This record gives sequence, C-alpha cells and structure tokens, in this order.
Amino acid sequence: MPKWNFINGLTKEAIRSVNPLWASAIKASLKSKATPLQSNYHVNTGAVTRNGKIVLGSNHEMAITDTITHGEEAVIAAALEKYGKDDPIQVIAFAGAEGEEIGSPCGNCRDAIRQYADLDNLVIINAPTAGGTAVVVPGNAYFKNDFAEANAEEKAWLLESDALAQALKAEKTAYDVYLAKSSPKIYGAAIACDNGLVFRGSYRGDVAYHPELPISAAIGNFRDGSDDACRKSVKMIVVASAGSMPDVMYKDRQHALEFAEAIQSLNNKSGIPLPVYLANGRQVFKTDTNEWLPFRFSPKHLGLEKAIAGGYEKLFS
Ligand SMILES: [Zn+2]
Repeated sequence: MPKWNFINGLTKEAIRSVNPLWASAIKASLKSKATPLQSNYHVNTGAVTRNGKIVLGSNHEMAITDTITHGEEAVIAAALEKYGKDDPIQVIAFAGAEGEEIGSPCGNCRDAIRQYADLDNLVIINAPTAGGTAVVVPGNAYFKNDFAEANAEEKAWLLESDALAQALKAEKTAYDVYLAKSSPKIYGAAIACDNGLVFRGSYRGDVAYHPELPISAAIGNFRDGSDDACRKSVKMIVVASAGSMPDVMYKDRQHALEFAEAIQSLNNKSGIPLPVYLANGRQVFKTDTNEWLPFRFSPKHLGLEKAIAGGYEKLFS
C-alpha cells in the first residue's frame, strides 16, 4: 500500500501532527470508479466525516461536457445519504498525478462544500496515487468574502454608471418562481466594455433546479447579444443587489474567471484579471476575477488558455 507524507499547502512546511484519517481518505479515493467518458480526467475522491466515517466518490460525465457529479459532489452526496447532514465532511482527498499541487475544487463544488461540509474544520488534500508528498490546505482558504472598498473616485463613477443601473435592473428581472425562504438573495450582473456597451445578466431559475446564474447570463448576452467587435475590450464586471451586498455564488465566479482568462488573452493582457465591482446601490467593494476565487480551478493552469481564447476569438472575426 502506498504511503504519504503531508505538507501544508499554504506554508509548504511538513506537517508533523498527521491525522491518520487523511491517509484513510486517500486510500478510499483509490477505490472510486470515475467515468470521465469525454475528458478522461479522473477525479478520484475520498472523504471523512466528523465522526470518522469514510466515503468515496468520483466524477461521472454525460451530455455535452456536462457532469452528473464531480468528485467533491459525489463524496458529499454519499456522506449525506449514509450519515446525514449532522455528520458533515471534514476531510476531502483527491488521488492523482505526481507533483506537489494544491487541490482545486471548481466554483460549483465550492458552493456544495460551503453548504454541507464542516468548513471551519475541513482540509482538502491532493495526493499522488502512488504515494509521496500530499498537499493539505484548510477548507476556509478556498473562500473569500471580505473585500476592500473601492476608492472614492471609483465609487463616485460606479454609482452613476449604466453598468450598475443595468445590474440592478437584472436583479429585478430575475426569473425566480421557485425561490425558497432559505435561498441566498438574488443579485444581478453586468459586463461593461470600454466603448460603453453594457451586457446585463439576470438569474434564471427553473423548477428542475438547474439555474443560470447572473454573471453566466451576462456572458451569454455579451457573446450573442451584439456583433460589435469593439466589445472585445472589456472594462469590468459589476455585480449588484439592492439593499445588501451580493453574495456571488462560486459557480458564477468560476464562469467569470473563464470569461476573463479568455477575453484578457485576446486583449494581450494574459494573466491580468478583470476588475469586479460589488455594489448595493450605496456601497461599492472591489475585487477581481482571480482574487475572489482563491486557488482557482483555472483554464490557464490546465494549459487551456489558447483553447478558451479561441472560443471567443470567433466572435470578433
Ligand atoms: Zn467541481
């Protein structure tokens, strides 16, 4: 059986007080049966609950590059079915390739993790299948919701901007027939271009629980709502919610990241994130498409920057 030593992914230091359940999670992951029919990218995952119960799961693909589950969703669902919501997951481990890489859940999986895992005590481990150095990162490090306020000048023009007005309009026009009292508050989004064009995006829920989120909707509007080639020069993303600061889903942040990486690559600004302004109509906070998705699951990191840029380039030719 392979053996692992553990390092802290944030400090790169060796961890001396190793929890024996970490290796149990990795060993469980080795038994999972991923079906990455299209990507051939196996996400073999194991997890341990607060009470020490071990579950396993993996990614299962379907339709047009869609999934039934990612590995993280699979272990969360397995633990919920077997042990219930009062025994949440504290360890998620992936077994994969060599190299001391930090594990990187996608945005959607982060939404699942923050809903159901014991986030304050969670660790996410990325381990080589054959044994060796496994990288451990506290679960909280993957989430960011405290942002710097925009400076006075930025705040002044943002509050008067068409982009903010459009984002607030998108909040109002959300298709939200199925929202429950426990649902997070709706927000609206807008993509603003240097030439003044604005593409708003509103939430579109559905009764089958497969919503389109606001930033994703704005990206669709940007792609298909104009043939103006000048819109390629994107200035910013604005997210707004009247009354309270928008709590942007990590799935939507993932869409924003992929959009930004593609469009910035086409604008010869590879690696430079797009600014993101978060506003409630009075206050304005500023972040960017990298900062608000720590240890991001990035197309660029996967070597796919050219491919995603190509997916946008055809819009402007
Ligand atoms: Zn995922």
